[in-house]
Amino acid sequence: MNPLKAPLHIQILVALIAGAIIGVLVNPGDVEFPEPTRVEIEQFEGHIHVTELAKAENGEERPVFPTLHLTLDQFVQRYPFVEIPDGDNLQAIDQSIAVTDQKFRVFEDSTGISVSYTRKYNDNPLLTNDHFNSRAELAHKYPLFLATYDGYSTSLSRTVTIVAKWVGDLFLSLLKMVTIPLIVSSLITGVTGLGGTGRLGSMFSKTLGYYVVTSFLAITTGIIMVNIIRPGVGAVIPGAGETTHLGTDQSLPGIFAGLVNQMVPANPVAALANGEFLSIITFSILFAIFILRAGDAARETLTNFFSAFFEAIMGLTMFVIHLAPIGVLAFMTYATASQGLDIFLTLAWYMLTVFLALLVHATVTMPLLLKFVAGRSPWEYFRALSPALMTAFSTASSNGTLPLTMTCVEKNAGVSNRTSSFVLPLGATINMDGTALYEAVAVLFIAQATAGFELSLSTQIIVAVTALLASVGAAGIPHAGLVMMAIVLQAVGLPLDAQGVIIAVDRVLDMCRTTVNVWSDSCGCAVIEKLTSEENTPITETA
Ligand code: ASP
Repeated sequence: MNPLKAPLHIQILVALIAGAIIGVLVNPGDVEFPEPTRVEIEQFEGHIHVTELAKAENGEERPVFPTLHLTLDQFVQRYPFVEIPDGDNLQAIDQSIAVTDQKFRVFEDSTGISVSYTRKYNDNPLLTNDHFNSRAELAHKYPLFLATYDGYSTSLSRTVTIVAKWVGDLFLSLLKMVTIPLIVSSLITGVTGLGGTGRLGSMFSKTLGYYVVTSFLAITTGIIMVNIIRPGVGAVIPGAGETTHLGTDQSLPGIFAGLVNQMVPANPVAALANGEFLSIITFSILFAIFILRAGDAARETLTNFFSAFFEAIMGLTMFVIHLAPIGVLAFMTYATASQGLDIFLTLAWYMLTVFLALLVHATVTMPLLLKFVAGRSPWEYFRALSPALMTAFSTASSNGTLPLTMTCVEKNAGVSNRTSSFVLPLGATINMDGTALYEAVAVLFIAQATAGFELSLSTQIIVAVTALLASVGAAGIPHAGLVMMAIVLQAVGLPLDAQGVIIAVDRVLDMCRTTVNVWSDSCGCAVIEKLTSEENTPITETA
C-alpha cells in the first residue's frame, strides 16, 4: 500500500510515533558536572541569598546558577542541611555542600538555548532552568556551562532539534494563516444559517452552560485525584527565584477587565491583524446578525459572498491539513529530543496525577456526556476526531489545531457548520477543560509541598474558581496555562517562584491538556447540536 494513500489519521499516527523515536535517538542526554565547591549564604533584609559556586576551567570560582532569593521559610525547606546565618545584617557564610547526582542538560532550538540543572542534596532533588538567546548570553551568565554547550553545539542532536522546531513552527504558521479567515467566514455563514437571532441566544446560553459545567467537572476530577495521590506531600519544590517574568501581575479583576475589553474591539481590522480571537468572534457575530436584519438584496449578496469565501478557505484548509503528518513528525521529534528523563523522574508523581486526572476526564466524563446527552457513540466520535486530537497533542495549541478540529467535526463526525462554527472558535479560546484541571492540580501540588500551608476546603474552592477563570483567560497557544497559573497562586497566597520547577515538564503536560481541551470543544459540538436540534428545523421568519 502506498503510505501516502493511507487515511490521514494513520499517517499522523505514524508521524507521531516516528517523531518520538527520532527524538529519543537524538536526545543529547545529561552531562555529569563537577560539584559546586562552595555555597555562599547571605542574610539581607529578611531574605536569604544563596549562591552556589564552582571552579571554572581557569580555576576561578563562578556562580553555577543565579543567586536564589529566599524567605526564611523557603530557605529552611530547601536547604534543611545548611546552617541558617543568624542576625539581621548582611553576612556571608561559606559552607561546602554534599551534592549527589548532579546533571546538566542543554539543548537548542530555533528560539534559543535552554539549560536545566538537576542535583540532589541529601536525597532532596532540586532543579533549575534558564533560557538564553545566544551563546554570548550563556557565556556571560554561566561560564561554567560553556564547555558543555560547545561540545553539544556541533552535535547531530542540535541540528535535528533546530530543524524540527523550525519545520514544526512553519506548519503552525500555515495553520494560523487559515485560522482567522476560517473563523470569520465560518461564524458569519453559521449565524446567518441560523435564520433568526432567537436561536442564536439559545445556542449561546447552552454553549456557555456546557463550557462551565465541563470545566468544573474537569477541575473536580483534578482536585479529587490530587487529594488521593497527594504528589506534593514530602516533595521539595525548588523555585528558580527567577520566575517573575511569568506574568505575575495578573490580578483577577485585571483578567476580567482584559477579557471584556477584548470582546469589544475598537478597531476590528486591528483585531483581525493581531489575531485577537474574542474580538473577532464578537465582531463576526454582530456583523452576521445585521446581515440577517438587512434588506433582501444586501442579505442575499453578503450571505452568498461569505458562503463562497467559506468554501474557498475550507479548500485551502484541507490542503494545509494534508501537511499535518509533516508538522506532527517535526513537533514530536522536537518534544522528545528536548526533554530529559531525569526531570520526569523528579516530578513523576505530580505528572502522574495530572495525567490520570486528564485521562479520567477524557475517557469517562466526556464519553458519558457524548453517549447520554448527545446520543453519539464515543468511540466513533473519537475516531472521527483523531487527526485533530493527535495534532493538538503534538503542537500543544488549540488555536493552531482549530482548522483541523472544524474539518473533523464537520466532515468526519457530521456536525452541522452552524453548530461547529459557533462552538469551536469560542471554545478554543475560553473552554479549556484540560487547562482548568491542570491549574487546579499544579497549584494544589505546590500547596501540598509548601511547608505550613493549610489546604482547607475553602482554599480548594478558591483554587477551583480561579482555575476556571485562569483557563478562560488562557490563550490557545503553547504554555499559556503556565503563565495564567500566577493568578491562582496569588489568589491563595502561594509563592510564585514555586512554578520554577514545573516549567521543566510543562511541554509534555501541555500536550496532554491541549488534547483534552480540543476533545472537550469537539464533544461540545455534538452536545450542543443535540440540545438545539429541535430548533434547527427551518422556521418561518416572524415579523
Ligand atoms: N496549550 C493549551 C492550548 O492551546 C493552553 C495551555 O497552555 O493550557 O489549549
